[in-house]
Amino acid sequence: MAEFNFLIVGSGLFGAVFAHEASQKGNKCLVIDKRPHIGGNIYTEQVEGINVHKYGAHIFHTADKVIWEYINQFAEFNNYINSPVAVYNNELYNLPFNMNTFSKLWGIKTPAEAKAKIAEQTAELNIGEPQNLEEQALKLVGTDVYEKLIKGYTEKQWGCPCNKLPAFIIKRLPLRFRYDNNYFNDRYQGIPIGGNTKIIEKMLEKTEVRLDTDYFEFIKDNPNIAEKTVFTGAIDEFFEYCFGTLEYRSLRFETEILDEENHQGCAVVNYTDREVPYTRIIEHKHFEFGTQPKTVISREYPIKWKQGDEPYYPVNNDKNNALYEKYRGLAENRKDVIFGGRLGSYKYFDMDKVIAAALDITEKEL
Ligand code: FAD
Ligand code: UDP
Repeated sequence: MAEFNFLIVGSGLFGAVFAHEASQKGNKCLVIDKRPHIGGNIYTEQVEGINVHKYGAHIFHTADKVIWEYINQFAEFNNYINSPVAVYNNELYNLPFNMNTFSKLWGIKTPAEAKAKIAEQTAELNIGEPQNLEEQALKLVGTDVYEKLIKGYTEKQWGCPCNKLPAFIIKRLPLRFRYDNNYFNDRYQGIPIGGNTKIIEKMLEKTEVRLDTDYFEFIKDNPNIAEKTVFTGAIDEFFEYCFGTLEYRSLRFETEILDEENHQGCAVVNYTDREVPYTRIIEHKHFEFGTQPKTVISREYPIKWKQGDEPYYPVNNDKNNALYEKYRGLAENRKDVIFGGRLGSYKYFDMDKVIAAALDITEKEL
């Protein structure tokens, strides 16, 4: 008899939702994580009384009422609305691309004027079905927005020219002809009061958790510990990279405590010119309207990923997608293991989508 029904590898959102649901239904679960803390990438830690988003800013947003109600069991959310500012050289623009951006760029007032300006800039480009991010961006917003707010940022972020990137990446950003700086179109949005880690603590309150525990070492000594494994680590590592390594884009965060109350007046400021080496500066206190005497900022530098670095963004090009399919084939034959989450599925998932995926699997499995 195995000691546990489920061994859950990874205490990120996917693992924590699965553990919570499985425990609720009477299963005995063990969660392990190789990091010294729970929460995966949504982890927040207190510095100077401020909840610092250690692995990059995490703002919860969803269009799905069921998911919003689900997550609200675990925390109370504030009314934060993400409204980043972009800095290009010394010019400031509102994001996402909306009437405030267009008015500042072109000195115009009405949506009709903004549309005419974009139409004038795109007409001469003659783009049919966009074949890459550059064409997609130019077709949507014209040359000025592309040159000032997209090109430099995107090339820093992905480390490659915009005409070599898939078009869909830029479609994540809203484009609107209203004066509205809300970065997301979703109906529900906010930051959990007290930080994201609180959510995971609550989800895991009835589950045994062992930290600083890497699966590959652990399983050697405990091969029969559970009937089934839920694996939210990297799928290629699970299969010992037998077909090769899936690629990621990584990030380096430079975090500083500043002896001033309010550094940039906004939680997120993007630096869209190529010359500034970081893509954005996060001032963490503004996610929770903090009034502490000091402030904490993090500069975010995109970097080339190599094995051992933190894998942040999957690089979903044709080569990597084909490689992932081969691993998925192997995964399908492992009836004793469920692969999930962003690393197990090699897919960029927002938090709401990870919860939905975990609930979906829970329903099938339990
Ligand atoms: P993770 O959080 O990565 O958890 C996986 C866990 O598994 C980790 O704790 C890891 O240590 C552990 N693990 C891996 N391998 C092993 C092993 N071998 N042994 C033991 N443990 C292991 N989404 C939003 O909705 N809003 C946002 O604002 C947002 N911002 C983001 C910003 C950045 C920079 C990034 C990269 C993502 C952002 N996301 C955002 C997406 C969000 O991070 C994911 O949806 C979510 O964290 C995925 O949860 P997960 O459980 O799949 O993975
Ligand atoms: N982007 C941009 N300029 C900006 C912000 C974003 O060109 O000021 C582009 C960039 O290509 C990025 C994509 O939009 O990869 C998606 O942006 P998002 O903010 O969703 O990126 P994330 O928060 O996931 O890093």
